[in-house]
Amino acid sequence: MFARCYNKISHLNSIRPFSSTKILNETHSCKVLVVGGGTGGLALTAKLSRTLNKSNLILLEPSNDHYYQPLFTLVGGGIEKMKDTRKYEEDLVPKNCTWLKDKAVDFNLKKNTVNTALGDKIEYDYLIVATGIIPRYELIPGLVESLKNPESGVCSIYSPNYVENVFPVMQKLNSGNAIFTFPNSPVKCPGAPQKICYITEDYLRKEGKRTNVNVIYNTSLPVIFGVKRYADALWKICKERDINVNTRTNLVRVNGEKKEATFENLDKPEEKSILPFSMLHVVPPMSTTEAISSNKDLTNAAGFVEVDKSTMQHVRFPNIFAIGDCSSSPNSKTAAAAAAQTNVVFENLKAVMKNQKLPLTYDGYASCPLVTGYDKCILAEFDYELNPLETFPFRQDVERTSMFLLKKDVIPVIYWNLMMKGLWNGPALFRKIMHLGLHK
Ligand SMILES: Cc1cc2nc3c(=O)[nH]c(=O)nc-3n(C[C@H](O)[C@H](O)[C@H](O)COP(=O)(O)OP(=O)(O)OC[C@H]3O[C@@H](n4cnc5c(N)ncnc54)[C@H](O)[C@@H]3O)c2cc1C
Repeated sequence: MFARCYNKISHLNSIRPFSSTKILNETHSCKVLVVGGGTGGLALTAKLSRTLNKSNLILLEPSNDHYYQPLFTLVGGGIEKMKDTRKYEEDLVPKNCTWLKDKAVDFNLKKNTVNTALGDKIEYDYLIVATGIIPRYELIPGLVESLKNPESGVCSIYSPNYVENVFPVMQKLNSGNAIFTFPNSPVKCPGAPQKICYITEDYLRKEGKRTNVNVIYNTSLPVIFGVKRYADALWKICKERDINVNTRTNLVRVNGEKKEATFENLDKPEEKSILPFSMLHVVPPMSTTEAISSNKDLTNAAGFVEVDKSTMQHVRFPNIFAIGDCSSSPNSKTAAAAAAQTNVVFENLKAVMKNQKLPLTYDGYASCPLVTGYDKCILAEFDYELNPLETFPFRQDVERTSMFLLKKDVIPVIYWNLMMKGLWNGPALFRKIMHLGLHK
């Protein structure tokens, strides 16, 4: 089935140093091209590498390092070390695939080709887009300068470049406002902006500094969390712990020297308020990368790869699928969602290759371990309809130490040892077993 594929120019040593000045102008050809070797791209490539061989499976990914991003929240809280979030990409890329260390700059969907930054062209029969979404710190005036200034009190868990500065900012916090933001755009892990708020609040309590600090969570959303069951639990926590939550409030400017943040009221954009801060944790607006968002054939109006939300197949080009954060499927953008999509994309792609009906559908499963302190967590799990889809046979809308340990110690092991090897499709099977087969 996967027999045909070849490189037009022999390309034995495909792992190359990335440099925008080095023009190669080679043409590669493959059966399946996976663009993006992050969470979803690597998990799917690992699965495909068991059926395809090195000459007909290409992974296009520019980075040397792969980050397990869900651990950034715990690095920010001083709970985990940065080194535990990172592995070399070359140690994760399956041996049975060709890794081109380069990035896509142009997709020609009518000709089935992708051009790369180094000047190569890749011809494919089937394309998987797995390029994720990126933090756009530069869109908020004053933010990048403030993040680079260690005295500003401005920090962010959303980038490997800034996450290690979060805990030092927390440690220096003694009084004043500690403000946590949620932007007016889709974000990856929509729970993380408030997880770091709860961790900071817990830290202040443990250090005996809580009464001097005013903790504020300013979110652009109209709700604290999209799923009512968990939102109810989180509102209760905020009330009990005196966290001030302001909805429809969007960060638009940062002055790190004066330690002032400007917010707009999204319901009355002309209404701006300037708040002084001692600590400002910023979650920036996010978008798909330029090569994706600028391609109108590939994307919807919001710049996401336009797929059928059940099959993950492109709505106009049946030989294209998307996985992970870059897809238009309206699930919560999480690694947990990418895991649940992996087998759906894999099996549906195989069916397209055989001209068969697509066998699997994705139900929108996403999970968000809402860490609420140094030893507690609410494990939110839900589907497209925002109905809870819980794995365990006990109530998951309450804070539990067991769920904190699951997030901190168990899920990373599953990620590195199963998901990165294409062996983890999410907890659906465990859910069935735990609920004696009575649950979806
Ligand atoms: C602070 C934080 C906390 C999080 N917490 C959780 C959590 O608790 N639970 C959870 O499930 N998820 C969590 N997530 C979200 C999770 O990390 C992402 O949803 C997941 O990594 C998405 O996988 P992806 O493959 O779509 O994108 P990514 O893993 O981001 O990978 C995208 C890849 O595409 C590559 N790429 C980009 N552009 C191009 C191009 N033009 N050409 C080629 N390659 C390209 C990039 O280099 C990258 O390797 C968190 C994320 C953050 C930042």
